[in-house]
Amino acid sequence: MKLTRLAIALTLALGSSQIALADDAEKDKAKKEEQTIAQMIENKTATLGLFDFYQDKETGETLMLLDESQLDTPFLHFAQTVDGLADAGHFRGGYRGEKIIEFRRYFDRIDIVTKTYRYQFDENNPISRAKDANISEAVLASIKIEKVENGKIVLKVDKLFLSEALHKVSPWARVDDKDAKKRFKLGKLNSKKSRILSKRAYDNNVDIVVDYVFNNPNPSVYGSKAVSDPRSVSIKLQHSFIELPKNEFTPRYQDARIGYFGQQYDQMTSSSWAPYKDVINRWNLVKKDPSAALSEPVEPIVWWIENTTPIEWRNTISEAVLAWNSSFEKAGFKNALQVKIQPDDATWQAGDLNYNVLRWTSSPQPRFGGYGPSLANPLTGQLLGADIMLEFVFMKNRWIYNSLYSQGAVSVGFSDIEQLHQGPGSIGALNCSAGYELQQGLLLSQAMSKGSDIENKAVLKEGLRHLVLHEVGHTLGLNHNMKASILWDEKEIHDKSLTQGALTGSVMDYAPINVAPRGTTQGDYFQTEPGLYDDWAIEYGYSIALEDSTEEAERLATILARSNEKGLAFGNDADDMRAPGRHIDPRIMTSDLSSNPVAYASDRMALIQSLLSELKDKTLIDGQSHQQLLISVNSLFGQYRRQAEVISRQIGGVYIERNVVDHSKTQSLPYTPVPKEKQQAAMQALTSYVFAGDTLASMQPLYNYMQHQRRGFNHFDKNEDPKAHDMILNMQKSVLNQLLHKKVLKRISDTSLYGNDYSLTAVLSDLTAAIFVASKKASSISRNIQVEYVERLIAIAGVAKSSAYDNLAKAAALGQLSEILDNSSSMSFGKSVEAKAQDAYISLMINKALKV
Ligand SMILES: [Zn+2]
Repeated sequence: MKLTRLAIALTLALGSSQIALADDAEKDKAKKEEQTIAQMIENKTATLGLFDFYQDKETGETLMLLDESQLDTPFLHFAQTVDGLADAGHFRGGYRGEKIIEFRRYFDRIDIVTKTYRYQFDENNPISRAKDANISEAVLASIKIEKVENGKIVLKVDKLFLSEALHKVSPWARVDDKDAKKRFKLGKLNSKKSRILSKRAYDNNVDIVVDYVFNNPNPSVYGSKAVSDPRSVSIKLQHSFIELPKNEFTPRYQDARIGYFGQQYDQMTSSSWAPYKDVINRWNLVKKDPSAALSEPVEPIVWWIENTTPIEWRNTISEAVLAWNSSFEKAGFKNALQVKIQPDDATWQAGDLNYNVLRWTSSPQPRFGGYGPSLANPLTGQLLGADIMLEFVFMKNRWIYNSLYSQGAVSVGFSDIEQLHQGPGSIGALNCSAGYELQQGLLLSQAMSKGSDIENKAVLKEGLRHLVLHEVGHTLGLNHNMKASILWDEKEIHDKSLTQGALTGSVMDYAPINVAPRGTTQGDYFQTEPGLYDDWAIEYGYSIALEDSTEEAERLATILARSNEKGLAFGNDADDMRAPGRHIDPRIMTSDLSSNPVAYASDRMALIQSLLSELKDKTLIDGQSHQQLLISVNSLFGQYRRQAEVISRQIGGVYIERNVVDHSKTQSLPYTPVPKEKQQAAMQALTSYVFAGDTLASMQPLYNYMQHQRRGFNHFDKNEDPKAHDMILNMQKSVLNQLLHKKVLKRISDTSLYGNDYSLTAVLSDLTAAIFVASKKASSISRNIQVEYVERLIAIAGVAKSSAYDNLAKAAALGQLSEILDNSSSMSFGKSVEAKAQDAYISLMINKALKV
């Protein structure tokens, strides 16, 4: 009885307290509705600027105040990684993309909407009334309005920033991703663990840094050693909102002859044959004195050297940035670029959008050697901010650890690294491997000298200067120019009195270190001055426009008409031949140098062979392990292989010119096949340096020493012995990947109709002769490549399985197989046991394929 009464009493008590709670909530709600904005923000931490933020000191809840005048107005939203994880495609300072957004009111909520500005309509054309047809806007977020008072709108924004609404932080899914299972997965965003770290506000922009925490309770891929625990990964991302500049900036149009990053606009009401008007990205440089031929800009481009920069490098970096001023002087600007050093006690951070900063990091998994991203207004191309990220490790001896086990058997070139996948709208993230190229150059120069300290040498200074010039070039709007290296011939390039710091037409090329062959006086190692192309490109992009639009168009046309002059050649990543089968003009190539790249590459390969023969003396040091020798061999071998690839691009190549038609002068044709003698010279060089039986014989005495320094159990699942035959075969295969690529074989046939005299049959016969050397000269290396070559011919001919090659290539491959079969079945008298076995095996392969 007592118990029951107690239970009733308890129930009553609880019930009444629940009612009391509900009453409180009602009261709270009513109170909130009554609250003025002043009361809502009282005692909260204020961050005041373009938008105002107020954060509750106890709960951390963040309010954002928007002015009604800011509704329906385009703002720029820009995302940047503050700190991330290479496994997830994030790295410190990485630019993640920008978009135009608008805040729009819909009854009691604010929608954040983005749309593309790609499609442009002439407003005088009635069709422009249909300009929104089939162009989709995206509503990124909808936020309930908390309060409107005196033109101010209050929003709670925690959910907005602690979600991926504004920016997709986790990697985008890929179409047909064969490696999906092998990829590291972040898992789900945990908004409870994620937090807003900081806010910075200025009159024209605000930055909000958010720590995004992802949880994957049961990961199948653990990621790199940089992952502390794969179940929980943190990515710090900065959102910036930027007011679009209100100024007199006039966009400048893109032209195919010069390489600027830019914005693309389709002209939907145009009747032009090429209905688009793209603009270049460039800074808004205005002359202080418009009447002066040479004037300082009203606002110079100021670069800050981050306080993480090694002190002894700061001068070199500063001088490199300022070296661009000579190009700007030719465009009418004095002191266009300025350099300052971030004080050690600076209150601003390098990620601050208002500062252009040259930054240094030393990442566990560097994805680039240097990276020079910039932020442009998508409506005009005006550059608003830029940074440069440089990787300390590329100035040092550090080598990618795992690649040492394969010892050159796989490519470790950064040129092969996949582009960071930034999702829809991304037109190829700027992925710059100039720093990797520099490291290779430094390792080569080190192999030439005896010392192990590359830091104090003049060559490092030259190299660093080149790297900074290159990355600053990106931030001025310039993209790569892989054709610039054809400026000097293979002799002139070693003559300092000619080159004077400009080995190529542009610092935007990936030229290798310029080392003189034995017996030639050493010239400039690296490019230390902007080249002729750079001056010309800056003149086009930055010289002051004339007021009259017709006169201005003529002025720009006059500048562009110089494109055929020496030193002004241009071709970028969209045209370069670094990957097998990709593109057609061998002059647009990375790691090549001079107008005679075959001769230059042959000189380099001869040099590397002799350096390899000296390597034991230079790198085996008492009391030390064999690591220095191992890294040096790998680096030199990799560079040898790269030069073989450079040579291979000549065969079946086609020169591209991008002139506009001008009947008043003789012009190069848009497409001209590489002359026969140049292609044959390439085949000859490949015969001697790649397919000969004694290829890289100077490496043989090194195999006994190519030992990896043991580190715990790290070599547990890898056999550490040198893969001698794989190394050479893979170098040879990388050449065959180009020469026997289906696009290349087809192009050799196609070009025979418009000027190519080196026929498909001749190319393949020469290649067969290079690989099937006389049996007396044949080594195990020869026999290895012969089998590989025959396998490929069988696949091309399509006799055993179907083939994706063109008809002419199939027939030509079959022709080679029957030649090889005839020779293998010929007299075996006097042949070695190995030669006889090889003949028998080759005959069997071919007969089996032909089912004879
Ligand atoms: Zn670059």
